[in-house]
Amino acid sequence: MTLSPCGIGQIVAAYSRQYLVELPDGELLPCLSRGKTSEFVCGDNVEIKRTSSNQGVIECTLPRLSLLFRSDAYRRKYIAANITQIIIVVATEPPFSDELLTRCLIAAHEQKLATLIVLNKCDLQSATIQARAQLSPYQNAGYRILELSAKDNIEPLRPYLENQTSVLIGQSGMGKSTLINALLPDAQAVTREISSALNSGKHTTTRSHLYHINAHSHLIDCPGVQAFGLHHLNADTIAAGFVEFSPYLGKCRFSNCSHQHEPDCTLKMAQQQGKIDARRLKLFQEISQGAF
Ligand code: GDP
Ligand code: ZN
Repeated sequence: MTLSPCGIGQIVAAYSRQYLVELPDGELLPCLSRGKTSEFVCGDNVEIKRTSSNQGVIECTLPRLSLLFRSDAYRRKYIAANITQIIIVVATEPPFSDELLTRCLIAAHEQKLATLIVLNKCDLQSATIQARAQLSPYQNAGYRILELSAKDNIEPLRPYLENQTSVLIGQSGMGKSTLINALLPDAQAVTREISSALNSGKHTTTRSHLYHINAHSHLIDCPGVQAFGLHHLNADTIAAGFVEFSPYLGKCRFSNCSHQHEPDCTLKMAQQQGKIDARRLKLFQEISQGAF
């Protein structure tokens, strides 16, 4: 058998600088990147060069339809590429960070991704009431929220996954692994297979995986996040990421209003009139000032 030296494939697993690339015939080829920095990410379509029968290097990525990433002052951290939807998993307990949730929604809006908030562990009834109240500003703003219990039944999630490439994101402890294992019963076996193909039996915290649910629906699982820096976004883009603000933007007395301390700020007036949730406006002010 002659092996084609070059080809196009998709990154289906990323472990730091090691990748697993799925080729059109289904072969999973372990690949390395050439550079020191890991500029590739799960979901990327890449050009590879085979260096041996079971090893390749990634030459470059093909243009991305979308790229979800977070950033601080120093660097960008890629999360997933070519996704169409972000599913943010929160739970009734332990408490979730609405700041982190908001930051994910802002990043998703900037990349024009569909969004779904999954409230997991709804079998815990009294905690559910509290979490529901915390999510009500998001519900009122028009965000889609799905309540479920990953332990009991994940079927309600399936229709939302159809014809989408979704990334699952959440703080650790929210039940993301439970959700994946219930959705994809052979996920753990796939993960083990991938780990051994990449020669890294050890579990690193930087791994992410793309799973095929069916021919048209794919799911990327990535490590739990505790912070989501948006250093790459300016205040206007951050404001646009609060979808319920849109009727008020551009109508303040000062055209460059920062919606912090200026007089005649339509966002602050809308909040005083009960049209915008106070907590959401505060989150905007803090995030746009980089106060976290
Ligand atoms: P991850 O860190 O987000 O991957 O969270 P895990 O899937 O490891 O779940 C964290 C904990 O929450 C585990 O003890 C799970 O058993 C528990 N858990 C996950 N889903 C549910 C659920 O629907 N209901 C309840 N009561 N517990 C859950
Ligand atoms: Zn304003």
